Amino acid sequence: MSVSPYWNPKTETLPREELRALQGHRLRKAVERAYATSAFHKRMFDEAGVGPDDIRSVDDIVKLPFTTRDAWMDNQATHPPFGEMCAVGSPDAIRYHTTSGTSGRTPLRVLDTRTDWKWVSEMWCYGFHGFGVRPDDKVFFAFSYGTFIGFWGAHYGTEKMGCLVLPSGNMNTANRVQLIDDLGATVVCATPTYALRLGQEADQMGIDLQGGSVKRLILSGEPAGSIPASKRLVEEQWGAKAADTAGMTEIGTIMMFECEQQPGGTHIIEDHFIEEVINPETGEPVGYGEQGERVVTSFGRTALPLIRYRSRDLVLKVPHTGCDCGRTFDVYKGGIRGRVDDMLLVRGTNVYPRAIEAIVREYPAVDEFQIYLWTRDGIRDEIAVRCEVREGFEDQWNAVAQRLQGDLSHNIEGLGIKVERAEAGSLPRFELKAKRVLDERVVKGSSHV
Ligand SMILES: [Zn+2]
Repeated sequence: MSVSPYWNPKTETLPREELRALQGHRLRKAVERAYATSAFHKRMFDEAGVGPDDIRSVDDIVKLPFTTRDAWMDNQATHPPFGEMCAVGSPDAIRYHTTSGTSGRTPLRVLDTRTDWKWVSEMWCYGFHGFGVRPDDKVFFAFSYGTFIGFWGAHYGTEKMGCLVLPSGNMNTANRVQLIDDLGATVVCATPTYALRLGQEADQMGIDLQGGSVKRLILSGEPAGSIPASKRLVEEQWGAKAADTAGMTEIGTIMMFECEQQPGGTHIIEDHFIEEVINPETGEPVGYGEQGERVVTSFGRTALPLIRYRSRDLVLKVPHTGCDCGRTFDVYKGGIRGRVDDMLLVRGTNVYPRAIEAIVREYPAVDEFQIYLWTRDGIRDEIAVRCEVREGFEDQWNAVAQRLQGDLSHNIEGLGIKVERAEAGSLPRFELKAKRVLDERVVKGSSHV
């Protein structure tokens, strides 16, 4: 019997009209539950003058107020340790996790019940199965297994599928490469940056990844998983196919995944989420093909209702018909395209780190890089890309730097981004989310010239 390409054949191919009806039904239930169990939501809905009875179809979602991370964090601070978002107390929860804390503030604390963990792993199964992972795969997790939720759900998802799970929480990079090789892992889960780091280590150790056992990489945690040049680099280094996924601690799992057809984007798991795209400034919805901020409503997590949560992620939604895999789930073209808050304002020009990465990764001579911003003469914003040169490319560097500088200036609105050489090994390396922007300007985001 041939295996279905879909994890959930019924919902993944549901006609759009039926899918929207299902979403409407589940939205109503989610709002009812949030209203009844979360003091945070009850107050928010009451203030907005809206209640469960106002939700009759998916279109009614716009009547509901947005939830923001700031409001959540403030509430957590005034109602420690978990805040009033949590619909269950710790006696009902079986696990505690946090966001990764890259923003520097206290991370969000989340609780989950046993039912929630079943759902969290189920979402990952959509992604793994959808990219061709099967029970006979050996799945390696280059992940620290700490309080950051990260790949925890993916671990349980692949266990559920019957794969052999290879954890590596306490290992350094060299030991991880060795284990992948020794045990013949067929799938590796990592952030895009760390997948590259593992590849570099393998090179130094003389381990041939291209000829090795790994056939698929499941990437998550950074926008780079959908940047074509970055992804190509990972795929070349490993001799394997790489698929992007994206999730967030606030929902506990992934809400989008790349199918085997790889349409240049990720399918949204629309039977479990409603994903709206809005103009981050006005809050108004934007249409297909227009970049905006994704707003997520999740149906699956009982301990933590999430209704119209402003993710700050930038996305561009296109209809499902752009992919020929047969799924009726719409697609985020280019995955997560960056963060609303990542945007750098340099001399009045908007600069997205992702756009710079997309160009830099076209240059195999660049090993690691950093985007550096500083203030010249106390007034003028300057921006440079510091590059470590890959071994074997040293002789060509001057010419490469000139070409790269021209490319950057041409593509980033003539801003005059400098390219500088950094000492080998001097730039930070990352296991989780890469932080490649170093902003030392006196006034960050200043628009003065
Ligand atoms: Zn598809």
